[in-house]
Amino acid sequence: MRWLEQIFMKIFLDFDDVLFNTKSFKRGLVGVFKKNGVSKKDFLATYKDYPTITRKGLKKYDPFRQIKLLEKKLGIDGEKTKRDMLKFLESCKKFVFSDVKNFLRHFDKNELFLISYGHTGFQNKKIKHTRLSSHFAKVVVTDEMKARVVERLAKSGERIVFLDDRADQVEEIKKSFPESVTFLVKRKEGRYNDSRTKYVDWEVGNLKEVLSAMKNGSLKWRI
Ligand SMILES: [Mg+2]
Repeated sequence: MRWLEQIFMKIFLDFDDVLFNTKSFKRGLVGVFKKNGVSKKDFLATYKDYPTITRKGLKKYDPFRQIKLLEKKLGIDGEKTKRDMLKFLESCKKFVFSDVKNFLRHFDKNELFLISYGHTGFQNKKIKHTRLSSHFAKVVVTDEMKARVVERLAKSGERIVFLDDRADQVEEIKKSFPESVTFLVKRKEGRYNDSRTKYVDWEVGNLKEVLSAMKNGSLKWRI
């Protein structure tokens, strides 16, 4: 972005519910399972919306494991369900929010980083099929809190911009990088309704609002 050319900036973007309409994707996924004899109720009983830390470790959603479970429980055709699901994953591009491309083209590739929480082969496939990876300097799918990843990717003196729909991730970033600028992205299509905390600099409804916030000169590092 031209107005920031004197300062090197790194923008860290979340994937689910920020770039990707996960709610709509999930609806489609339910449809794939339904077609293979799994009711919505059975689907939801074996589904996890967001990775959570439990005493046994990080619990996250993996549909390959889910299919195996449902195969045992309901006697569905696991192989066919898996095939249908992989086919469905190929349509991921259509779940990318319509303001994403325009947002990304305002920045150099070396300023953009995609960090997604909850490492599974499934998450990698989702991202791959959106064909967004080429817009980013790096795509990281991780089980660590994002602040740990940012610590490795940001050099001192660089401006950090962080976008996520989860307040806990924003909080960790702000604690580690008090000078960062953080956005809590609350899209109307999002699955969560995290509220603004003192760690959130901006609460926005979409990426267009992020661009406006950056352009209107009220960001604190603007010269
Ligand atoms: Mg998210």
